[in-house]
Amino acid sequence: LTILGLESSCDDTAAAVVRCGGNTGADGAQILSSVVYGQAALHASFGGVVPEIAARAHAEKLDHCVEAALDEAGVTLADCDAVAVTAGPGLIGGVLAGVMCAKGIAAGAGLPLVGVNHLAGHALTPRLTDGLAFPYLMLLVSGGHCQFLIAHAPDRFDRLGGTIDDAPGEAFDKTARLLGLGQPGGPAVEAEAQAGDPARFALPRPLLDRPGCDMSFSGLKTAILRERDRCIAVHGGLTRQDRADLAAGFQAAVADVLVEKTRRALDQYLSLAPAAPALAVAGGVAANGPLRTALTVLAAGRGVRFVAPPLRLCTDNAAMIAWAGLETYAAGARDGMDLAARPRWPLDTTRAPLLGSGR
Ligand code: ATP
Ligand code: FE
Repeated sequence: LTILGLESSCDDTAAAVVRCGGNTGADGAQILSSVVYGQAALHASFGGVVPEIAARAHAEKLDHCVEAALDEAGVTLADCDAVAVTAGPGLIGGVLAGVMCAKGIAAGAGLPLVGVNHLAGHALTPRLTDGLAFPYLMLLVSGGHCQFLIAHAPDRFDRLGGTIDDAPGEAFDKTARLLGLGQPGGPAVEAEAQAGDPARFALPRPLLDRPGCDMSFSGLKTAILRERDRCIAVHGGLTRQDRADLAAGFQAAVADVLVEKTRRALDQYLSLAPAAPALAVAGGVAANGPLRTALTVLAAGRGVRFVAPPLRLCTDNAAMIAWAGLETYAAGARDGMDLAARPRWPLDTTRAPLLGSGR
């Protein structure tokens, strides 16, 4: 199977071609191309993604992006078996642009259309990169999301818990802004934290005292604001050391919460007695060094394989959409020209919506 995938749900316009020898599973999965046109420069001066600007840029760039992906893969539409496209969740203008483009390609080339849940794309990536067998535990931790999922099948996920407010990536970005560091905040805070003392400030570990896998990160951000203002009150500004210590303290608090909640999610997952137990991470925050190290240690201690796909496949891309499309297409998913773009689409409403309106 050869699948063309399109992604346009946030600020990356992406297209990719993925091929797999077998019908299902990850045997011989190959990324023939993965093209990403980032929009960061367009939004930089606004301090965040502007939905209207994003939608226009997607509409302008999608065609070129698809052409580039087909060229790079050395295939034509005639070599493809289906077109997969992110149909949500995301910024609705961008999702619409992608869905429209995919419909045009499908109608023009006579190819089947498959609508993909963006979160399923992230959650299925470890099957593309590492051939993980179901069921595996996934920590999806990005700029907009933070949740634990048990992946049972391409169209079946159990959500064990997640953030009740901010996503950690968002908190990293806000913390970077508070400390006067650049964007994206994650890498900036991580770099700054290297020279810092994580124990200097007493920062909260929200919801650790409560059972379950839910998390909260907005209080942590407020605590950073408070400690920062205290430092400023003392010496009229932030010293190099203040900045490093605040960054280190913040990063350690996030990692502590994520690791403890992962421990609990692992308990629930391992009670299913999976034959080949595995913990996978995806999303931009999965790039964080100390977090990766802590999760590696945790997984090893429980006899669980730990998988972290390469960063370019952890952040938004279309290879994951093509792959999720490939898996659901192989399972029989087809969508019609009535495929809708959805701003919200929780992953755990499972089968019916993911397999689309054509069923
Ligand atoms: P979503 O996929 O949920 O819609 P998104 O597309 O904004 O959100 P990603 O592209 O997966 O999210 O990840 C971007 C986020 O990852 C940013 O918030 C960024 O600060 C964070 N991030 C990137 N690198 C690191 C790092 N080394 N440490 C911590 N956070 C990081
Ligand atoms: Fe994403």
